Amino acid sequence: MPTLVIVGAQWGDEAKGKIVDWLGSDAEYVVRYSGGNNAGHTVIIGDQVFKFHLLPAGILHPNCVAVLGSGMVICPEGLLKELDVTQAAQARLGTLKISSAAHVVFPYHRKLDMLEEEARGANKIGTTSRGIGPAYQDKVARMGIRMAEFVHPQHFRTRLEAVLAVKNKQLEMFGEPKIEFGPLFEQYSSYADRLRPYVCDTDWDLQEAVAGRKKVLFEGAQGTFLDLDCGTYPYVTSSHPIASGACLGTGIGPRAIDNVLGVCKAYTTRVGSGPFVTELEDEIGAKIREQGQEYGTTTGRGRRCGWLDLVALRQSCRINSMSGLIVTRLDVLSGIGDLKVCTGYRLDGRDIPSMPANIDDLSRVEPVYETLPGWEGDLRSARALSDLGRNVQSYVKFIEDFTQTPVAILSIGPDRKETVMLRPDLIWG
Ligand code: GDP
Repeated sequence: MPTLVIVGAQWGDEAKGKIVDWLGSDAEYVVRYSGGNNAGHTVIIGDQVFKFHLLPAGILHPNCVAVLGSGMVICPEGLLKELDVTQAAQARLGTLKISSAAHVVFPYHRKLDMLEEEARGANKIGTTSRGIGPAYQDKVARMGIRMAEFVHPQHFRTRLEAVLAVKNKQLEMFGEPKIEFGPLFEQYSSYADRLRPYVCDTDWDLQEAVAGRKKVLFEGAQGTFLDLDCGTYPYVTSSHPIASGACLGTGIGPRAIDNVLGVCKAYTTRVGSGPFVTELEDEIGAKIREQGQEYGTTTGRGRRCGWLDLVALRQSCRINSMSGLIVTRLDVLSGIGDLKVCTGYRLDGRDIPSMPANIDDLSRVEPVYETLPGWEGDLRSARALSDLGRNVQSYVKFIEDFTQTPVAILSIGPDRKETVMLRPDLIWG
């Protein structure tokens, strides 16, 4: 079964980058399907550290085709910078293809992102200010500029003229100066010249790849609870990081997906604002943050840390129809002591099975915990489940039982070799 979606099962930063890189060594296509350079992946190979915001981690494999799908919004400047750095570090890269239907992020998107966030005052969403939200707003408002138009000099001129007239009116409303057409067109035309060779009909390529039973890995960005519809709205991203987003953002149909693996941390983190039922605002939370070096790849912000929320994880398994889970960062919990896991939500004295849609209700949810024994010592040398102590094994079993989803892989450190494969049958089938 050669198509596999790797999705973030929580609020992002679950260490998808390492997993996609590791499984991607086998894949013929690695495909990003949502978001833009608001996502961040870290891949560590030996002493080399790669930080990707746009490029699929599969770009590091010379025989792989790395695709930026139609559901993405792409900042040309950011992409070219990333491409230059990666090309300088690694002589042989995979083939890059950019969807002609993906949308382009422009400086006015970034400007409006900051202005809108400022205007929200105390109700800030915690955006990364990369212009992603405003770029998706333009897409929905039928005002976006697609890659196909961007790399066509005449069409680009006409479209940018029309769109910039509207954007300048929006900037004026915020009391901001206009953006001049000439310099913007010139600068972005030079980016378009460099990106043109990579732009093509990736939907068709991927449909062909799927029909030819090629190994295609769809790489989710962010996480399930940052999804525009399934996440903790309004503290969400503007696209669809969930597994079904792989269909929306690449032009393949739902029956073309064979397996879905959800990556989750052994605990929970969240960046930016929004309710967080199992948050630890005490020394245990601080210890997890320090031991796990929980600081954002894209923003550098310290992440909020808390106990593993199994109610949310169970919901995530269902939303994504997960074949299996990948539990990462088990090593970070070493030495924390007894571990709590959230097995129930209570709202106004009643048990509820899943997250309420009203964000105000969610902020009032009280967690019901079970306590499991913790573990000590360095887990990183383990290579099989039996190398891990009994308490780690029971923690993993508890996750499986509660979510009714098998755990396929454990990650116990950042390096490729610090990984324990439990269910190879759930990867490519
Ligand atoms: P992503 O966006 O989901 O890829 O997550 P990030 O890249 O923001 O965070 C993952 C970080 O965790 C990277 O620095 C990885 O090298 C590191 N990492 C991956 N797996 C593990 C693990 O099992 N244990 C530890 N301690 N770090 C890990």
